[in-house]
Amino acid sequence: MGLTNSQHDAVMRIYDAIRTKNQHLQNERYSEVTAACPEIADLENEIISSSMEAATAIIGGLSSSTEYKAHLQELNRRKENLLASIGKPKDYLEPVYSCTECHDTGYIGQQKCSCFTKKAIDLVYRDSNLKNIIASENFDTFSFEWYDKKTPIPGLGLTPYNNMQNIVSICHTFIDNFDAQYDNLLLFGDTGVGKTFLTNCIAKELLDTSHSVIYLTAIELFQKFEQQDFNKPDTSAASFDSNYILDCDLLIIDDLGTEFGNSYTHSKLFYCINERILRRRSVIISTNLSLSEIRNTYSERIFSRLTSAYKMLKLVGADIRLMKKTGQKP
Ligand SMILES: [Zn+2]
Repeated sequence: MGLTNSQHDAVMRIYDAIRTKNQHLQNERYSEVTAACPEIADLENEIISSSMEAATAIIGGLSSSTEYKAHLQELNRRKENLLASIGKPKDYLEPVYSCTECHDTGYIGQQKCSCFTKKAIDLVYRDSNLKNIIASENFDTFSFEWYDKKTPIPGLGLTPYNNMQNIVSICHTFIDNFDAQYDNLLLFGDTGVGKTFLTNCIAKELLDTSHSVIYLTAIELFQKFEQQDFNKPDTSAASFDSNYILDCDLLIIDDLGTEFGNSYTHSKLFYCINERILRRRSVIISTNLSLSEIRNTYSERIFSRLTSAYKMLKLVGADIRLMKKTGQKP
């Protein structure tokens, strides 16, 4: 993920704060334990001085490590017993880490830890609209009441209500199996049938389970690529390297077909879809276009990638935004 220097500094400041908080917690535990059992403080001091003695002796060639090792093991064993006697686990006084992989440094050697990526996304999206939107658009607020229970959809034999129940259940399976099973969704249907709402529901579930989710309208997606390809400055709130578009856990492309299409956007769309299939990274696309319109608008190779790697879900219903405005229900 390509962050600006100031974004990188901001993430590192988050780690500083985490380490300070954890150090504070460790100090509190020490005070708590030594108040309940002062002997532990003596033992801790003895362990520290023995360790230092051992280091000096071994460096000076005065002693082998084995005799000190046995002594230190014995001291540690006594400490663990004392901790157990006051009902504390044996690692209670050990350093506290929120991430045991990188010890809250953000890096494992030269490599960024996965927790760094998560923090970077939180940062990039902190002020963007997705987090605000999913506070109101999520599965807790999702309602089937907007979908007609009586009139079957011609050619499908299902009512919009039953159709939506099937689709929501497919979305839940997508979320539940997200880490185990690679999958992509294409939600299509008329304006106002709930496509964006549903993608927001999925985004929230995956963000809540620490997955990296990038939400872009098709227009924004192509702008990101243009900024990268033509070195244009990125002034949007969600400023990140377009490589990240290829690599985040879930990419949501909303409103495909609203962009001003040309050979550049078509080649970028193919590149993005194809690259994410190769990397086995999931995508959700929503569009007002019908399947035949998708086929006519984009190239055959895009259409064939979509039909082979995506679950095509057709949402059917009346315009929910309109119903909410007029107070009408199906
Ligand atoms: Zn980490």
